[in-house]
Amino acid sequence: MRVAVIGQGYVGLTGAVALARHGHRVVGVEQDGERLSRLRAGEPAVYEPGLAEHLASVLRTGRLDFVGCLEEATAADPVDAVLLSVGTPPAPDGTANLSHVRQAVRQAALLEGSPLVVLKSTVPPGTSDALLAEHPHLRERYVYNPEFLNQGRALDDWQAPARTVVGTHAPAALARCRELYAWVSCPWVTTTPASAEMIKYASNAFLAAKISFANEVAGLCADGDLDIDDVILGVGLDPRIGPALLTPGTGFGDSCLPKDTVALAHWARERNIDTPLLDATIETNVRRPGLLVRTLLESAGGRLNGLHVAVLGLRYEPWSDDLRAAPSRAVIPLLHEHDAVVRVWDPAMTAEDLRRAAPRAVAHPSLASAVSGAHAVLVLTAWPELTGADWEELVPRMAEPRIVLDAKNCLPAPVLHRTPALYRSVGNRRPSRQ
Ligand code: NAD
Repeated sequence: MRVAVIGQGYVGLTGAVALARHGHRVVGVEQDGERLSRLRAGEPAVYEPGLAEHLASVLRTGRLDFVGCLEEATAADPVDAVLLSVGTPPAPDGTANLSHVRQAVRQAALLEGSPLVVLKSTVPPGTSDALLAEHPHLRERYVYNPEFLNQGRALDDWQAPARTVVGTHAPAALARCRELYAWVSCPWVTTTPASAEMIKYASNAFLAAKISFANEVAGLCADGDLDIDDVILGVGLDPRIGPALLTPGTGFGDSCLPKDTVALAHWARERNIDTPLLDATIETNVRRPGLLVRTLLESAGGRLNGLHVAVLGLRYEPWSDDLRAAPSRAVIPLLHEHDAVVRVWDPAMTAEDLRRAAPRAVAHPSLASAVSGAHAVLVLTAWPELTGADWEELVPRMAEPRIVLDAKNCLPAPVLHRTPALYRSVGNRRPSRQ
């Protein structure tokens, strides 16, 4: 099939590469000039492990191309399908901003040749039906097909998703969608567009709840003979629960869970539906940055002013360069509010990246320089460079009171307990483990 993919971000670019790998002729449409020129130069515009290699290999086949607008994509040759993977960022009131989706659907609705229209962006339940009311001629060839990929595993998720959800009013559109994803062998859930939209939001709400729940359990395991790692391990091994995302730490900070949980809560409130579990999930997460800074404050005897605090890792996870909702963005301003002297280091970010992300902080080029002379360090990313560092050598370089707050519970606790640092984690971690 000839396929246009509108929006070349994390979802669209990985999707375009996956579709081209499976034999479709794909044109990626990107309106952001900088992203587009990087893509045209064969450079992935977003970071995803393996993407650079896969992009290079599909570009060699000649089956993938990039253009700046849909008209250009279809000028010479009509498309059989158009995927819409544009952003749905949070509006100031927390609702989903659907302006990019509306614009992309308007563009797709003008195409000649009746292509299949596949909306992949995450949108509130009822959005597809509202769009179809505006563009009734799309009804027989429209599907809502939410994307469930994990950043860091996006290409594998495109290759072998756990499920494919398709919401449509048109059996013919479903059949064309099966052709589009012919390589996929997972279970298909076919339903109404509104239910498919709710599946995506409910899935993200559940994942977010698992993270908030793990953080609540960590609060219960704050001291004494309790060990949060053992407790989480023991809970997660129950197959009804599972270990995935049962992770105490900085809270959810990818680009989707924060915005999608808040958008769902708004959607419910507009309908006078109570969502106490969802509200608590969000509230628990919103409190995380403040709690981490409070832990630092308490460890430092109630004052951070003038203390050098080294924030180690600005990314939410090592495998994602997506800082849109990373906890570092909330934690660093709070440290400034307490008049701490903030240092930042992240092995994947240049000095310029660090300055852009944390303009008032002092960017450090190496872990050793960030830690040397710092009164406290705050670990916000589970970088292998941190988990594998020689902490017995690093901690003595710090200045008193030498606080190490491991907000990802990723450092070797027994080693840290052996150093002169005041080692704090999210929930108690025992000095020795069996
Ligand atoms: P993104 O912001 O990284 O990329 C969107 C791209 O679309 C941008 O580059 C933007 O310039 C481009 N764009 C917007 N309107 C356009 C238009 N009319 N023509 C051409 N280009 C246009 O977004 P993303 O992270 O890929 O997410 C896309 C959607 O998928 C969102 O709704 C998101 O919630 C959802 N989603 C994201 C993930 C994820 O891990 N990032 C996972 C599942 C679902």
